[in-house]
Amino acid sequence: MGKVSSATMQSAQQLLCDVFGYADFRLHQRDVIACLLAGQDALCLMPTGGGKSLCYQIPAMVMDGVGVIISPLIALMQDQVSALKQLGVRADFLNSSQTQDQQDQVKHALLQGQLDLLYVSPERLMTGAMLDLLGRTNLALFAIDEAHCVSQWGHDFRKEYQQLSVLHQRFPDTPRLAVTATADARTRTEIITELDLHNARRFIASFDRPNIRYAITDEGSGREQLWNFLQTEHATDSGIVYCLSRNKVEDITRWLSQKGRVALPYHAGLDAKIRQHNQSRFLRDEGIIMVATIAFGMGVDKPDVRFVAHLNLPKSIESYYQETGRAGRDGEAANAWMHYGINDVVMQRKWLEQSDAAEHHKQVQCQKLDALLGLCEMTTCRRQSLLGYFDEALREPCGNCDNCLHPPKTFEATHQAQLALSAIYRTGQRFGAVYITEVLTGKQDQRILANGHDHLQVFGMGKDHTALQWRSILRQLIARNLIVADPERHNGLRLDTSARPVLRGEIQIFLRTLKKPSRKNSTKATTSIPVDLAPGDEALWNALKAKRLELAKAQSIPPYIIFHDKTLRQMASDKPLCADDLDSITGIGQSKRERYGQVFLDVIARFV
Ligand code: ADP
Ligand code: ZN
Repeated sequence: MGKVSSATMQSAQQLLCDVFGYADFRLHQRDVIACLLAGQDALCLMPTGGGKSLCYQIPAMVMDGVGVIISPLIALMQDQVSALKQLGVRADFLNSSQTQDQQDQVKHALLQGQLDLLYVSPERLMTGAMLDLLGRTNLALFAIDEAHCVSQWGHDFRKEYQQLSVLHQRFPDTPRLAVTATADARTRTEIITELDLHNARRFIASFDRPNIRYAITDEGSGREQLWNFLQTEHATDSGIVYCLSRNKVEDITRWLSQKGRVALPYHAGLDAKIRQHNQSRFLRDEGIIMVATIAFGMGVDKPDVRFVAHLNLPKSIESYYQETGRAGRDGEAANAWMHYGINDVVMQRKWLEQSDAAEHHKQVQCQKLDALLGLCEMTTCRRQSLLGYFDEALREPCGNCDNCLHPPKTFEATHQAQLALSAIYRTGQRFGAVYITEVLTGKQDQRILANGHDHLQVFGMGKDHTALQWRSILRQLIARNLIVADPERHNGLRLDTSARPVLRGEIQIFLRTLKKPSRKNSTKATTSIPVDLAPGDEALWNALKAKRLELAKAQSIPPYIIFHDKTLRQMASDKPLCADDLDSITGIGQSKRERYGQVFLDVIARFV
């Protein structure tokens, strides 16, 4: 395999600047590109938003022949191709959404050498006709997007991906690049084996997403907290709210709409047409909140999702990281926010117990849930713990998670734990958290009186704390497995054997300090970009956004395909006055400058 001449790398750099409007390569982009240009295979693991696409787009444009991109989702393909066409890149796709005529045109262009990039689905690629067509085409490279789909271990398994090693057999001289944002070691090994990438160079970037601020709370009611979060931090932004069930999705959508936000539902129970419609509105309009089950997400390539909120616990840290990773792909400040409650823990454990998966699998899942709860209840830097989970060490606390920003206080809670445990024990280990809380706070409830539990010594002994605070204590004790919620008996609480030493006063318990339900003065998310908007520039920013939306609507494309927020923000603060001034603004290449430069300059001129 040869080395790449500096002139070739120079033209890659030139394309980055002229076509994409970016000044420098990021992370491993330069090395991956050099590797492909040298004719070598590569495997590239980068987090979502890391910039994987450029790693194959640029070499395909530099090299002779066409770069063939295997992409699992038609919607994603279409988006990428429209974005590339906006940039003036010769790209197209072949898939079942096209008419025969359209397909013939693409094939013709392909054979005439008129394309730099061709996107195809794996099913299409594997057909004899397609492979023959490629045999007659001048090929630059193959890129296998979302390469983790080859893995049976993961949740996005696609059978056709396992046949992709055919590419290597039929076209041994064409370099291949596999890219994915799924990090774990097992998936990685499977990709290498299944795709026959043993000789590929490996590029593995840090999985840290420094622009995402993590926050997890179990305080107060989920809705109230969510509303508070949305109003203080994301009054007009678009984002995703994840819920566990379809009903809750519908419920929260209705509630947010009543409160005046534009919210749309997405779950597997909805008609495919409606789902499609809601998804494209989410991409095309601004400020939309998508309320969804985890059915929503893969392949939704919207860079300006400003927040991902969870109203329930996800299944595992992996799911949490993948779902929150959909925020802030453009590198600007974004929030990953979660509220969870005792019922989540109980429900998840119940599903696990009831599922007919193998015992071993259940145990793994159970551990995963515990790891996630550990993340929720921890009192030190969440990012350190998250990255640690993926075998990556972060030396210092991050300074951009809730625990770093507002260090939670802990308190010695042995006495409270003993009260809770004994209330459970004395009432017969069969009542749920609400009942136990009422006993502790001494509520004169019908049921309690009927059961004679108002005569227990522990009745009313916990008056110093509110009901909400007791719920938090119980939850923390459940998370630590001192208490077990039994789904077979309406989530009645019972003691685990590990509770004994606590009751006997042999070990101390420290819990998170119980805070007042609503948390005020949350700080604004800090931005990771150099240009921040001065208060006086807000009107211009809004005008630029309005113009962008107008242009996008006219072409039926999402606004971010025209310019990213980052580009508009820089325009609003730098206020370029002529076409030359636009050169210093990120995300404006030649094609976009010609197409939109003047329109936006006109808007700016009105404000200067
Ligand atoms: P991924 O596929 O890894 O999730 P993308 O390829 O979609 O990420 O890139 C994420 C965003 O970062 C895109 O909007 C892209 O235009 C932008 N980007 C990529 N490379 C660079 C770069 N070198 N400089 C600035 N922005 C970049
Ligand atoms: Zn932190």
